Amino acid sequence: MDEFALIRRYFEPLGRPRPEVRLGIGDDAALLALPPGSELCITTDTLVAGRHFAADAAAADVGWKALAVNLSDLAAMGAAPLAYTLALTLPEADETWLQGLAAGLDELAAQHDLALIGGDTTRGPLSLTLTAFGAVPAGRALRRQGAREGDLVCVTGTLGDAALALQLGAQAPPALRQRLHRPQPRLAAGQALRELASAGLDLSDGLAGDLAHLCRASGVGASVRADLLPTSAAFAAAAPAARHLALQVQGGDDYELCLTLPPERVEAATAACGLPLTVIGRITREPGVRFCTAAGEILPLAPHGYRHFT
Ligand code: ADP
Ligand code: MG
Repeated sequence: MDEFALIRRYFEPLGRPRPEVRLGIGDDAALLALPPGSELCITTDTLVAGRHFAADAAAADVGWKALAVNLSDLAAMGAAPLAYTLALTLPEADETWLQGLAAGLDELAAQHDLALIGGDTTRGPLSLTLTAFGAVPAGRALRRQGAREGDLVCVTGTLGDAALALQLGAQAPPALRQRLHRPQPRLAAGQALRELASAGLDLSDGLAGDLAHLCRASGVGASVRADLLPTSAAFAAAAPAARHLALQVQGGDDYELCLTLPPERVEAATAACGLPLTVIGRITREPGVRFCTAAGEILPLAPHGYRHFT
């Protein structure tokens, strides 16, 4: 099967019609019309076999997660997703794998009516680069900058589930495996909280490192209560107590949103979020991120999450 037949068979069917998509797969480039008064929000992420996913990972899970991590970035900006592109490098045209990949991509894309509008297909070591496009009302995107002293730090959902699943491997219970392989981008929450939050980002590399990015961008620090971190029942049942904090703040792959809110907006944000929203700490003038007990004792913790080149 040549490159063009492969595109026709597996990827053209993922180009669902949307009013914003004026031209999809098949020409030299795609055309996207933005809703009036909005800005285009663009993000890209690469997944490399053997680094971001196991070479024997289910192809459908790879497809889902490749799209999910991109949509999580759009969610963090408060954008509504429109479309995506797929640059695919493959060692060979393995049709079973391609079919699985396309099915996983489209399962998540269907939930948000997203169109695949283009891409590139080349031969080489297995990797995928997706670019996602979203719309956000002009000037209203949620940024990492904007957090102020006294704002409360909040997170959606629960933390540590994916990191624990990764650690437990095949022994991980299904609820945790789902969180690792099929993260749900928090798109509705991001759009609902865009107008309420002072700053926000998505948690991909672990709360400690990601919150430090937000604090740096905002010129502030944060103090987080370890005892307030939201924990799923599956995590509580399966995580060794001594590993809770490390998994929940340094583990990564949570794909929850971390937001800062002026205290008077927390109630409205909780009502609008559509997911559990938990206050875990507050923004301080003093820079840096500290994790502490309910009594205020500071807990020792390495200051950053996963990094590629260290
Ligand atoms: P060009 O040589 O002009 O870059 P290609 O032959 O690479 O065009 O691609 C032909 C069409 O197929 C383009 O519309 C391109 O966006 C689309 N396409 C190529 N690879 C993929 C892919 N993996 N997923 C979706 N669309 C793809
Ligand atoms: Mg090309």
